[in-house]
Amino acid sequence: FGLLRRQDPEVASVLLDELDRLRGGLQLIASENFTSPAVLAALGSTLTNKYAEGYPGRRYYAGCEVVDRAERLAIDRARRLFGADHVNVQPHSGASANLAAYAALLQPGDTVLAMALSHGGHLTHGSRVNFSGRWFDVVAYGVRRDTELIDYDEVRELALRHRPKMIICGATAYPRAIDFAAFRGIADEVGAWLLADVAHTIGLMAGGVLPSAVPYADVVTFTTHKALRGPRGGGIMCTEELAARIDRAVFPFVQGGPLMHAVAAKAVAFGEALRPEFAGYARQVVANARALADGLAAEGMRPVAGGTDSHLALIDLRGTGMSGAAAEARCTAAGITLNRNAIPYDPEPPTVTSGVRVGTPCVTTQGMGAEAMKEVASMVAQAVRNPDAAGEIRARVTELVREYPAYPSEL
Ligand code: PLP
Repeated sequence: FGLLRRQDPEVASVLLDELDRLRGGLQLIASENFTSPAVLAALGSTLTNKYAEGYPGRRYYAGCEVVDRAERLAIDRARRLFGADHVNVQPHSGASANLAAYAALLQPGDTVLAMALSHGGHLTHGSRVNFSGRWFDVVAYGVRRDTELIDYDEVRELALRHRPKMIICGATAYPRAIDFAAFRGIADEVGAWLLADVAHTIGLMAGGVLPSAVPYADVVTFTTHKALRGPRGGGIMCTEELAARIDRAVFPFVQGGPLMHAVAAKAVAFGEALRPEFAGYARQVVANARALADGLAAEGMRPVAGGTDSHLALIDLRGTGMSGAAAEARCTAAGITLNRNAIPYDPEPPTVTSGVRVGTPCVTTQGMGAEAMKEVASMVAQAVRNPDAAGEIRARVTELVREYPAYPSEL
């Protein structure tokens, strides 16, 4: 880092300022985490130099013997972690993994059944501004108005009516466990592929606190940078039968050369997730999310779907009279980073929303537990209600994060 500071102080100051921001505030974005210094070391390595189009042992470039070892380690570790037949660790992101999954299984114009964005689905599950909504005929299912849980009867009814070629389960803002067996049953009934997009929950699957989608789905897509605590990136798992189709869809259909430094960093993260401590981390992530949701509920902020089974809670703010956008801005001013999020059947537009999403992967990596979550809930509630208290809350945040530093000071 000293070298970067001497050669390019402008970029070096960006890196330092971002580290200060991470260390100095509370990070409650559900899709973020703090990677280990070992993951950062792999990311900042000379493996970024290498072109390695193809797969280990079958490359289109010379000199890949060494980077092949990184990819083989990543694949072997992921297979051990999830018990999958086949793993592709090359997708650059969760969205690229999903694009490859669509490409492997479908033709443009095919019908897909997926969760509505407004009820917690992802952009790649059929939004009009994304390839999925533009190139495919997407039918959306949602959650029930009374329970705010996935309506499996509606999913089955829509599947029988529209006969989709693929059904997607998995979401971006759904706090409860997903019944993969129920989705498998519906997919079998209509002869559809089942894609489980577990971008958000893969880390909790790895830690054994949420049921695995692997035994049920034909294809499982994921990201490596959320609760799994790896580098920014994606991956795909599938049955042996689909292995060649998935590999061809990732390269050469969707991507060119893989990012070998990221592949090595994925191997490091899978290795960390294989250690027994990771299960303890995953359990604490969920315990913290529950404590945070309970704390916010006690402050008159209603957790959607009655609470959470995962790392995130979706909070209905209508009881406070504040919109999601206003709450996000007030929390930012108080040193708390979270994001506005539509709640199911939200009367407000997506830019405003009636809710916020909070997640615990970051604060749990910092070592915080349920007691700290009570304090965090109280700070969030005060920040949302009283903009004049921003300075005072920021001081409390500073005190809390000093006790639980995000990264060691020697980083
Ligand atoms: N799928 C789901 C369910 C997600 O939540 C996300 C990201 O939040 C993605 C896919 C896309 O991941 P990325 O941002 O890496 O493209």
